[in-house]
Amino acid sequence: MNVRDAEEVTGLLLERGYRLTDSEKTADVVLFNTCSVREHAEDKVWSLLGAMRNLKAKNPSLVVGVMGCMAKAQKGKIFQRAPHVDFISGPSQLYEVPELIEAVYKNRQPAESQGNCEKVGRLQPIAAIQQKRRAEFKTVSYHSGPVSAFVTIMEGCDKVCSYCIIPYTRGPEVSRPPQQILEEVKRLADQGYKEVTLLGQNVNSYGKRFAPQTSFADLLAQVNAVPGIERIRFTTSHPWDAVEELFDAMKDLEHVCEHLHLPVQSGSDRVLERMRRGYAADEYVRKLELLRQKVPGVAVTTDIIVGFPGETEADFEATVRLMERCRFDSAFMFSYSPRPYAASTRWPDDIPQEVKDRRLQTILRLQERITREEGEKALNQTVEVLVEEADRLSARQGMGRSRTNRKVYFEADGLKAGDLVRVHVESIRGHSFIGWALPR
Ligand code: SAH
Repeated sequence: MNVRDAEEVTGLLLERGYRLTDSEKTADVVLFNTCSVREHAEDKVWSLLGAMRNLKAKNPSLVVGVMGCMAKAQKGKIFQRAPHVDFISGPSQLYEVPELIEAVYKNRQPAESQGNCEKVGRLQPIAAIQQKRRAEFKTVSYHSGPVSAFVTIMEGCDKVCSYCIIPYTRGPEVSRPPQQILEEVKRLADQGYKEVTLLGQNVNSYGKRFAPQTSFADLLAQVNAVPGIERIRFTTSHPWDAVEELFDAMKDLEHVCEHLHLPVQSGSDRVLERMRRGYAADEYVRKLELLRQKVPGVAVTTDIIVGFPGETEADFEATVRLMERCRFDSAFMFSYSPRPYAASTRWPDDIPQEVKDRRLQTILRLQERITREEGEKALNQTVEVLVEEADRLSARQGMGRSRTNRKVYFEADGLKAGDLVRVHVESIRGHSFIGWALPR
């Protein structure tokens, strides 16, 4: 979602005649698109913003903007800690970024002659920032790759997960009208795109406020019918809204890939309840069983948090057991950090860092083994790959993804990006498959 947000702003700026540079050293405008979901993500931005201070000292006309969730969550602090930042723009104001940049330039002109440029440049745009919702979705045609494109289908989130800052930074859920989504997908297909990834914080609750309702499964069926689109992916799904209708759509729609990212967060019912996830571990496992029954070979990936407030050793062991039961194809695993505005911040962050680190290491190792073992099932088999790069490193090395979302590197001659090929899997490296493309 953040990648797509950055593409949209890039697209709007390209339309106005801006160009991308290779390095921030030669740029007139540097924009940071930020994430607030974990403290670590914010720490990285703080350090990059620090580096901007020197760059701006060398090039005072440089415009520095901070966009995205951190701009909203840390608004006051950004100008305090990084006074060289010219403007901030929350996730619902991305379409205003071109105007904000221009406002900075405009306000600087007279200000420069008074030798007071930065202050004016900095303060004006903030006054202009209102908490406007991004209720009207624009269609921005810029996409960074030639084969696979992200398509936003909704904004915001109506869930109340107690650890999560997103409902605050991105606001409540708004779905994009299906007609607009389909037009965008058709245009992408006309331009030669082969794969779309439908994006939303919780795509499974798509369209619930439309009358008549268009469910996410309905939308998948409509996208599946667009000629030229070979593959459809989507992210993210909340287990609560991942229902049988979705699994049936995955089974029946030929272009929908056999991959579901279904964040479980914990294997302990006590923790899940305090996280306000709305399901018990057993219910989650049963959903997975139903999915696997309907869609053989489906890869399920997940997100897990360790060290949530009050997580006991027994709670953590329940997570380990759940991972062993579910055998995820891969997982994003995080150590809990309290986030501003999240409900869990009321509880003491009482798990010592070394305990969080140990728990995280334990599940990282466990998942590494499961990922390898699950991957090994593909050894000496062939998998369908959509070629994303045909000449990686050398003219004969290609890269693409399997339908189950494993990266695949392969020897290939005469292939081009966008081709669908079958690749014989010879070995596994980390999460990736290595092999060679079968002649077509
Ligand atoms: N709706 C999106 C949320 C993206 S956030 C989704 O379901 O994928 C991605 C992951 O970050 C979450 O699933 C969760 O595992 C993790 N996360 C969110 N808040 C966190 C926090 N306060 N501390 C640690 N990890 C967190």
